[in-house]
Amino acid sequence: VATMSELTLIVAATSKMGIGLNGGLPWAGLRKEMAYFARVTKRVVGGSEGRNIVIMGRKTWDSIPPKFRPLKDRHNIIISRILPPVSDDGTTTIVPSLAEALKVVARGSRRAFVIGGAQIYGAALERPETKRILLTRILDEFECDAHFPIELGGNRVAEVGWKRKDMKDLGTWTGEGEAAEGVKEESGTKYEFEMWERD
Ligand code: NDP
Repeated sequence: VATMSELTLIVAATSKMGIGLNGGLPWAGLRKEMAYFARVTKRVVGGSEGRNIVIMGRKTWDSIPPKFRPLKDRHNIIISRILPPVSDDGTTTIVPSLAEALKVVARGSRRAFVIGGAQIYGAALERPETKRILLTRILDEFECDAHFPIELGGNRVAEVGWKRKDMKDLGTWTGEGEAAEGVKEESGTKYEFEMWERD
């Protein structure tokens, strides 16, 4: 029996679900938060071969400084209607839709993360394959012009169908263990890690 490919969204958002400003991040200097993102998206579980997949919209790809892309040790899939489709050695692939990205995911057995931005999160949330959201809750407010499409607690009630998991589950699934627990602070900004799953 073929198991359906599973998608995990990973996002950092304010309590009002703000995620972006002027094509970049609304906040600066969250070096350890970015290191968490890198560790969690790279970590291969189950001892088998291959790299995890990160799926992103073309604008999010553009927002990554060229020297840091493709994101290393991960298969980067970029979704674009205008860029010509490219498929290479498993480092970077350009596809015209999320459905095409899911076909690539289905060919392997590694974890697949949707890493943004707002448009691609929106498309992914429509898909039954999307089972989990790793949310970094930014506990300060920032001006934002891009937002995550659904509410996950914060100032408001959570979207129906999504439940927050406890920190033990987050530590186990991410492989971060107890280090992920508690409120963190960098550059004067407080944040904490959350994991949400579909009911
Ligand atoms: P996206 O990164 O979602 O990219 C949008 C592009 O993706 C479109 O222009 C199009 O590319 C392509 N696309 C979107 N939908 C489809 C579709 N259904 N089929 C095919 N291609 C599609 O852009 P957003 O503007 O929504 O988000 C970017 C913002 O989000 C930035 O500010 C960024 O910094 C922020 N961000 C924040 C994150 C966080 O965790 N806080 C994480 C990631 C991003 P094309 O035009 O080439 O056709």
